[in-house]
Amino acid sequence: MPLWWAERAWLGGPGTQPDVLLDVKEGRFASVTPGVTDPPPGAERLPGLTMPGMANTHSHAFHRALRGRTHERSGSFWTWREMMYEVAAGLDPESYERLARAVYAEMALAGFTAVGEFHYLHHGPGGVPYSDPNEMGLALIRAAEGAGIRLTLLDALYLQGGFNAPLAGPQLRFSDKDVEGWAVRVSQLASGRRLRIGAALHSVRAVGADQIAIASGWAADRGFPLHAHVSEQQAEQRDCLERLGRSPLGVFGDVGALGARFTAVHGNHFSAADISLLASAGGGLCACPTTERDLGDGIGPFHAVHAAGVPLSVGTDSHTVIDGFEEVRAMEMDSRSASEQRGRFTPAALAEAVTAGGMAAIGWDAGSLAPGRLADFVNIRMDGVRTAGADPGQVASAVFAATAADVHTVVVGGEPVVEEGRHLLVPGAAAEMDRAVRALAG
Ligand SMILES: [Zn+2]
Repeated sequence: MPLWWAERAWLGGPGTQPDVLLDVKEGRFASVTPGVTDPPPGAERLPGLTMPGMANTHSHAFHRALRGRTHERSGSFWTWREMMYEVAAGLDPESYERLARAVYAEMALAGFTAVGEFHYLHHGPGGVPYSDPNEMGLALIRAAEGAGIRLTLLDALYLQGGFNAPLAGPQLRFSDKDVEGWAVRVSQLASGRRLRIGAALHSVRAVGADQIAIASGWAADRGFPLHAHVSEQQAEQRDCLERLGRSPLGVFGDVGALGARFTAVHGNHFSAADISLLASAGGGLCACPTTERDLGDGIGPFHAVHAAGVPLSVGTDSHTVIDGFEEVRAMEMDSRSASEQRGRFTPAALAEAVTAGGMAAIGWDAGSLAPGRLADFVNIRMDGVRTAGADPGQVASAVFAATAADVHTVVVGGEPVVEEGRHLLVPGAAAEMDRAVRALAG
């Protein structure tokens, strides 16, 4: 029976608890007991601070190939998008699987135990389906299995190149031609032990309101999480208001797409009315602040969204960095810069966003160290050069001092995936990443 004994563990709230015994049965916590000063024999000791496994709620695995390679010229989201399309054009199922396995291994090494992959690169060049039309999604599924991380495959509907604009170039690979074709294809995917299937609508640019209505109803009938890019860009917000007389979130609201399983990704340019609409519908917001600042998207109204009671999660999105601590720290720090106020979020609220908040948004019963929950957890060194001196009695020490490099042990469903900072399934993750990216980038 797997037993771990944590020197300190975060069980919720501002403080952490000492001497916590974690008892795991069949992949879930059977008991979580603080104050066990005399651990039973056989219990594996976890030094430092132990937290729930983190959730990376919004990922496009292939964007990782662009890290450090897009900064020579000035530009915007839209010029970056052209570089991203070049990578998309060069991928096939084999190269996608190799790259994604290394990316998911990087996530596991950073303490992520689940990822929501917002998957839109479905078909071959020119939009020709592979012999199995889910071949690209299956490549992602194999990649996640290989890296030992839970995957929610958020299969994305993408039908047009912009408001009433035809698809062009690599965008053809994203499209199922119509919403019915998308639904038939996604129906062929089945959940598994560490796999969930969910739905995504790329954006109001890529999916018209009538198709949003059909697709969101289809996803709701299946109980799928439903994610969509919403108001990432000023231009999207402005064009949508001009053409449709509604904000992007308003379009989703009009057709009944909002609800407790809906997660808006970004929301950088939400109005006060958008925030009220999302809050009243019970939907969540996934912030991706390291990507948003990389792309010059603008700073989202994270604090106002949180204050309205909207559940928050975070995603590393384009993977300019893969670090859950940095992602929630960025949410706080960018909010400080925008408001000239410190402490916009409590440290516990930030820790919740990257754990329980994210897990709920992608359909996993994980994200807290509590009996009955999936036994995903992360152990952080508190004696490294970055974390030494921070108070391990406070969760703020992890949120504001730790980085992905301080993650020591990662356990998914009671099974160790990372030990002593090394990935047990992908020990050569760095070399694999190097080969996968160079094969694409030249
Ligand atoms: Zn995205």
